[in-house]
Amino acid sequence: MEQQTLKALLRVVAQTVVAHAEELTALDQAIGDGDHGLNMKRGFERVAELADGISQQPLPQALTEIGKTLVMTVGGASGPLYGTFFMTLGKELPLDPTLADISATFNAAIAAVERRGKSSPGQKTLLDVLVPVQEELSAGTANVLERVKRRAASAADATIPMLAVRGRASFLGERSIGHMDPGARSSALVISAVCDFLGD
Ligand code: ADP
Ligand code: MG
Repeated sequence: MEQQTLKALLRVVAQTVVAHAEELTALDQAIGDGDHGLNMKRGFERVAELADGISQQPLPQALTEIGKTLVMTVGGASGPLYGTFFMTLGKELPLDPTLADISATFNAAIAAVERRGKSSPGQKTLLDVLVPVQEELSAGTANVLERVKRRAASAADATIPMLAVRGRASFLGERSIGHMDPGARSSALVISAVCDFLGD
């Protein structure tokens, strides 16, 4: 990916997260402690600040750098998980990846998040967006950006009826049902911003 393209992409993703910070806060107020919007805003604003330096590196190293930045700035439970996700993408992605490489790398990053979070899909977390998105990536190139974007949104919606089994929301037990998971929503936002950018 061209340096200028990556820089613009990082800024667009950060803008999207910042624009939805209040929505993420409200979701986390319903079933958590209300910090997810600020956590994500802080992290992605820092990524945007560092976008010049990050985008000068080859894509794998850039992804690793994004992951490290998110670990250091996002905080909460989601910071180390987002960080692990991007750092694993950076570690596993080849220099000039095909869609099959991206799909396999996404799979490895999901496995790393599952290990780190001791979690699996179906527990009302960001994994409930990442795993369906990986399924779309593995289904081939036809209309992939549009499919991924639509699937990310529907997967985030599908966390509403789920019972939270991991993270703070699990403290609520049955009362976690009926609310969208904040981390699932933020993952869908990031993924959808990337798809929109690459589709233009
Ligand atoms: P905290 O819960 O520490 O306040 P955040 O509010 O930033 O951190 O992030 C909450 C989100 O993190 C949840 O909505 C969920 O998607 C994700 N999350 C929390 N714990 C786990 C876990 N063990 N595995 C996967 N995702 C998790
Ligand atoms: Mg929180």
